[in-house]
Amino acid sequence: MADFSADYIIIGAGSAGCVVANRLSETGAKVLLLEAGPTDWHPMIHVPAGVLKLLANPLVNWNYTAQPDAATGNRPFHWPRGKVLGGSSSINGMFYVRGNPADYDNWAQMGCRGWTYDEVLPLFRRSERYEPGDPEFRGKDGPMRVEDYRTILPLTHYFVQAAQEAGFPLTPDFNGKTQEGVGYAQMTRNGRFRGSTAGTFLRDAKGRANLQIVTGATATKLLFEGKRCVGVAFRRGGKDERATAVREVVLSGGAINSPQLLQISGIGAAAHLKSIGVDVLQDSPQVGANLMDHYVTRVTHRVKDLISINQLSRGPRLALEVAKFALLGNGALTFGVTSATVFCRSREGLASPDLQLLFTPASYDQNRFGKLEQESGMTVAICPVRPDSRGTILAKSADALEYPEIQAGYLTAERDLYVMKAGLEHVRRIFAQPALARHSLGETLPTSAVASDGDLFEFFRRTGGTLFHPVGTCRMGEDPDAVVDSRLRVRGISGLRVVDASIMPTLTTGNTNAPTIMIGEKGAAMIREDART
Ligand SMILES: Cc1cc2nc3c(=O)[nH]c(=O)nc-3n(C[C@H](O)[C@H](O)[C@H](O)COP(=O)(O)OP(=O)(O)OC[C@H]3O[C@@H](n4cnc5c(N)ncnc54)[C@H](O)[C@@H]3O)c2cc1C
Repeated sequence: MADFSADYIIIGAGSAGCVVANRLSETGAKVLLLEAGPTDWHPMIHVPAGVLKLLANPLVNWNYTAQPDAATGNRPFHWPRGKVLGGSSSINGMFYVRGNPADYDNWAQMGCRGWTYDEVLPLFRRSERYEPGDPEFRGKDGPMRVEDYRTILPLTHYFVQAAQEAGFPLTPDFNGKTQEGVGYAQMTRNGRFRGSTAGTFLRDAKGRANLQIVTGATATKLLFEGKRCVGVAFRRGGKDERATAVREVVLSGGAINSPQLLQISGIGAAAHLKSIGVDVLQDSPQVGANLMDHYVTRVTHRVKDLISINQLSRGPRLALEVAKFALLGNGALTFGVTSATVFCRSREGLASPDLQLLFTPASYDQNRFGKLEQESGMTVAICPVRPDSRGTILAKSADALEYPEIQAGYLTAERDLYVMKAGLEHVRRIFAQPALARHSLGETLPTSAVASDGDLFEFFRRTGGTLFHPVGTCRMGEDPDAVVDSRLRVRGISGLRVVDASIMPTLTTGNTNAPTIMIGEKGAAMIREDART
């Protein structure tokens, strides 16, 4: 029988959990890391372009579904989430974006002590290794390698040029001094391979005798003595087992699973817990509330005379790209999903960008993101980065293995439609510039016929989808309704923290992996500080 007691138990080996496991185990403390999924053996995890083969792959993916809603044309939404060592960082698009300094200053304004940009910048720097950047902003020797694209298709250069012609300045490093403007993508890549948190933070820590990693282990309930969390019940290979924590339990299950596990363990809105037959340990009304996600709609153009990923992904051209990957470590197989991006504002007078435009030199089946179209295309996804719309994640029963109900709440706040519309106007202006216009056969989505507010809003409601960034369901704050305090301790409970994307009080200006890794760094640093006092 294995010894499942440790100083710290971490539930979930995802973007945050692997960071926490590394940083806590480097102190010599005994750490147990429980992960519901398998090891990251699947070859498609490690080939960057393999992401398209993982979006619905049940071997490494929870494959959640967000419920249909009238605000988005009564369509269900497929929500991939990594269920594997590395979590969603093992199946994501690898785009590395920290967000805007104003995001973190705003968290501090909302009451989160210790989370201003100046206070989190050292943690971003600690986690990463990015050779070209300004050392004032960029880390040089962290476990996570961040790299520029190794191969850039001409279409991407023309997009960046056209954005400048449309008035957006070039920002050489949107993770450095200035975020706003147009810039080339940076990726969490280790040479030619994906750099998940399992392949970086966990790999660095794996040899430590004080770190035990158990895969295929799904936490089913948190265990308490009074209001102190003392361990975890989990299921592995069809058997129920238990682990005890001497110091703390750290919940890093991600924005869907963390609130669900709290709820089925008795921490949540009292009325909801009673409705699913769970005894209330702590009435915490916002567990599973405040769900935010990046909802995007895509503008697509047919490409006239240049190569796009659509052509590179099939036939003899694909064979050539495979050879380039194997022999030179470059080419299309090293691509992420986004190759260039614009951070911009929907209107004058805003303190920081509220829109991100994400360029891909490819076009996808309108009904199935990830399935490339036969013909050559290019796409810009329009993303209102700090939406007003909110949703919920609520356990349907006390059974940890039953998926919770996800109400994404997309476009339920009208303002998000207007921000989206401003984004579409920016995108159409960029495509109209000479650098890009000469390579386009015209807009295939939404098409120029879609122009009135009514038609545009209908298009946004009918065709948008997730950028895979749910956050906020265990919101951090110092107000009584917050789920965790500024040190990520679950309010009303001792011995339990949440450290993952669910603690974000608001979405950041950009993709969420880098901020979640920073949260892992900061959570671990606070646990270490508190252990010394
Ligand atoms: C398809 C996709 C593409 C994306 N693309 C990008 C991108 O290009 N750039 C970017 O910045 N962000 C991207 N993201 C978002 C980013 O990856 C996530 O925001 C981030 O990984 C969230 O980290 P997390 O630690 O909160 O959760 P996760 O990384 O999801 O980790 C949670 C872990 O906990 C495990 N777990 C859950 N419940 C239990 C349980 N009960 N017991 C044991 N283990 C459990 C899960 O299996 C998982 O391994 C993408 C996400 C997806 C899904």
